[in-house]
Amino acid sequence: MNPERCDVLVVGGGPAGSSCAWKLVQAGLDVLVLDKQVFPRDKVCAGWVTPPVMDTLHLDLEDYRRARVLQPISGFRTGLIDGPPVVTGYGRTVSYGIRRCEFDHYLLGRCGADVRTGTAVRSLRRDGADWIVNETYRAPIVVGAGGHFCPVAKAVAGTRAPEPVVVKLFSQDPDLLATWTPQVTEALEKVKVGDRTPIVDGRGC
Ligand SMILES: Cc1cc2nc3c(=O)[nH]c(=O)nc-3n(C[C@H](O)[C@H](O)[C@H](O)COP(=O)(O)OP(=O)(O)OC[C@H]3O[C@@H](n4cnc5c(N)ncnc54)[C@H](O)[C@@H]3O)c2cc1C
Repeated sequence: MNPERCDVLVVGGGPAGSSCAWKLVQAGLDVLVLDKQVFPRDKVCAGWVTPPVMDTLHLDLEDYRRARVLQPISGFRTGLIDGPPVVTGYGRTVSYGIRRCEFDHYLLGRCGADVRTGTAVRSLRRDGADWIVNETYRAPIVVGAGGHFCPVAKAVAGTRAPEPVVVKLFSQDPDLLATWTPQVTEALEKVKVGDRTPIVDGRGC
């Protein structure tokens, strides 16, 4: 069977992949987006997006908020336990609270590309000037937008060098910190993630 052809194949339908696909479609290219998950899907995130992001994405806020959460944030109230609250007001919207299951689904839906969800990218190889993906798709350009464990990054760059794990133990109570530091150090010494070595910084800041 001949592989299905497109101008650009985007791996990952999160905000990066869908935004990239959206601009490429606007430029007149035939774009295919593959994502291993079925949307709407959840993504671990605090869900804060700043106004410049909304502007860059040309997001129609009125259309978006019609059926989705869009919470303008113009200030914060912070405080310590038993302490007085500290109110910080900006007098303008400095961020929006969104739900990633809605935000990512919306961006993917409006990108205009051919989107195939529930399709994991498992293989990537060169064939002349093209890339062959999953032995099913052929494209001269492949965009890796698969997030933290992007298969394109893995295929192109190989495995990353081991990185140290940095752990910060913080408490304003020096007695608590003194009690916890040996326990946390002991626990971390038992943790082995590949060749990674835990570094414990037990100081407060
Ligand atoms: C705890 C936490 C809080 C955060 N809070 C914020 C915040 O408040 N505001 C903010 O702006 N950012 C926040 N971020 C960062 C933000 O979530 C990421 O920067 C953002 O999701 C990156 O988007 P992306 O499109 O690159 O990747 P993703 O959103 O991760 O999308 C990648 C997509 O690729 C798909 N994929 C992966 N592998 C394959 C494969 N083999 N085949 C096909 N598809 C594949 C996945 O299914 C996924 O849909 C937070 C992150 C974390 C962890």
